[in-house]
Amino acid sequence: MAKEVQIKAYKCEKCGKIWGGKYVAKTCCKEYHCDTCGVKTRQYWTRCNRCSEKNDFDKAKKITEKEWANGDYPSGVFFEDGYYWDIADVVDEYPDAEYVYALIPLTLAIDSDLLTNFEEDASLDEIVFEDEAYKMFDEFCKEFNKKHSVDYFMQDDNTIVLLDKAVE
Ligand SMILES: [Zn+2]
Ligand SMILES: [Zn+2]
Repeated sequence: MAKEVQIKAYKCEKCGKIWGGKYVAKTCCKEYHCDTCGVKTRQYWTRCNRCSEKNDFDKAKKITEKEWANGDYPSGVFFEDGYYWDIADVVDEYPDAEYVYALIPLTLAIDSDLLTNFEEDASLDEIVFEDEAYKMFDEFCKEFNKKHSVDYFMQDDNTIVLLDKAVE
């Protein structure tokens, strides 16, 4: 048995490439520019690296090395997405570094968001767990987290440590 089907596709009006989705066809040859400085950016990117770095820097709280050392911050810092035991290690490796990121302590645990996510994943049908299920799962999470939650650290995008040598 064979059934004839028609497949709908979309063509980029500029280069003529055929795409399965309307959005990709529409944006195929579209040029993207940084919304801050106007330079051309990669496809779908509305801000260039330099401006988004500057933006992140401006937004973050700035502290000195001393404030960091005396403050209630976990030990270690982040620089260029890498973890370092100490600021001195960053300076050793990158003498030009001007700032690093402090760390933020986090806990890996589970909670009833997980059930809500299941409900959302199944959003084709309206699936909602009963209150009883939520209650049961909450109790399970509590037990589980008591025994198995894990503490870890991540870069704190909101706290920048200005290196002494850069401040002077
Ligand atoms: Zn195109
Ligand atoms: Zn820019």
